[in-house]
Amino acid sequence: MSVVTRFPPSPTGMMHIGTARTLLYNWLYARGRGGKVVFRIEDTDRERYDEKHVQALINGVKWMGLDYDGDVISQYERRDRHAAVAHELLAAGKAYYCYCSPEELDVMREKAKAEGKPTFYDRRWRDSSATPPEGVKPVIRIKAPLDGATTLHDHVQGDVTVNNEQLDDMIILRSDGTPVYMLAVVVDDYDMEVTHVIRGDDHLNNTFRQNLIYDAMGWKQPDYAHLPLILGSDGSKMSKRHGAASVEEYRDMGYLPEAMRNYLLRLGWSHGDDEIISDAQALEWFNLDHVVKSPARWDFDKLNHLNAHYIKLADDARLLDLIQPFLPHSIDAAGEKRLMAMMPELKPRAVTLKQIAEEAEFLVKSIPLDMSEGALKHLDDDGKATLGALVTHIAALDIFTAQTLEDTCRQLAKDMRDGKLGKVMMPFRAALTGRDKSPSLFHAAEILGKNETLLRLMAVL
Ligand code: GLU
Repeated sequence: MSVVTRFPPSPTGMMHIGTARTLLYNWLYARGRGGKVVFRIEDTDRERYDEKHVQALINGVKWMGLDYDGDVISQYERRDRHAAVAHELLAAGKAYYCYCSPEELDVMREKAKAEGKPTFYDRRWRDSSATPPEGVKPVIRIKAPLDGATTLHDHVQGDVTVNNEQLDDMIILRSDGTPVYMLAVVVDDYDMEVTHVIRGDDHLNNTFRQNLIYDAMGWKQPDYAHLPLILGSDGSKMSKRHGAASVEEYRDMGYLPEAMRNYLLRLGWSHGDDEIISDAQALEWFNLDHVVKSPARWDFDKLNHLNAHYIKLADDARLLDLIQPFLPHSIDAAGEKRLMAMMPELKPRAVTLKQIAEEAEFLVKSIPLDMSEGALKHLDDDGKATLGALVTHIAALDIFTAQTLEDTCRQLAKDMRDGKLGKVMMPFRAALTGRDKSPSLFHAAEILGKNETLLRLMAVL
């Protein structure tokens, strides 16, 4: 039987990095075995429903560089099918109508609490031959086993056993005819022929209840793998407090999708001591046996390390595209040429795309440049005197290259600044880039060209 995994997020806003990791694991598990990934939006909460949130999830999948088979399925659209299954169970005697009023349920709840029982519903309609009360719309409840225990063989958690007395005769269809979430998930997974359910361990308890439905319908249960949570560096559940908890935020901070994939893969799964794992290796190696059982902690240093690595590997033209949103304005062909020429030097220095853009921005700025405070410090009277001399020397250069510029600066340093090259370079850098740090200045000047270099120096003077 070929593998089918699933990606069933609820559209609550942005894509949480935990959701992205779950998606990645499902994707790797299926694709690494020639299987399929189905994508379903669990959109039954109509009050909070917003098309924008659905789009955010679709965009998140795309940005992660992952894909799925077939259309995006709406769980809400399938509600009639879910209800039909509830009625099928009813007809088969595996479920029953319950006519309890809210007041009756309150009494049961109090009683169960007083007796310390794990569930409260006393199953009074389970095998009842009583006449239903007039005018009450019933719910449908499933018949849970009355005694014994159930063991789940989970690929990550191992064997997990619960006493069946923990399982309620839960409601599967509300009195207004709408299905509960627990039913919808099972029917959808069954209809979508899902073989492996890989999801967060916050769903572990649900599994026992969902399996009641599989069993009652005589459907084969899928394999399960419940993944531990992702924690922030302080050990609490990863959230906005920890800096960023959604895929979109990491994209906007300048992380590459391949770095995110590698990082999320390692965050909760291991292959020996390997830290850098290519997509091809991930597809070949990923399995459920090496999912780490304890919660993983988010580690920005590791993510940064991976991002720097993948930036170095990335194609220059692709990086040029990717840094554009981080630049203050759109750039023309001449600007693109400059950025491309500098890219080999920018790449090894950067941890994020944003940093590349910050370092490269001066190449596409117009005169006069805005000056950072650090830059302004070097533009005092001495600095300006140096720049004046530099303008004269550069104007006289027939061949304007990084090398001839370096020779010129060294000569000037000797003539004017006791041989201290820094005394020439600092004002030069300030005037050319507006900053006090930059990639190789001689190379940058060569890329800008003689004219532009002179114009920038003169603008300061
Ligand atoms: N919609 C659920 C969630 O976003 C996923 C449920 C599941 O994987 O079964 O947490």
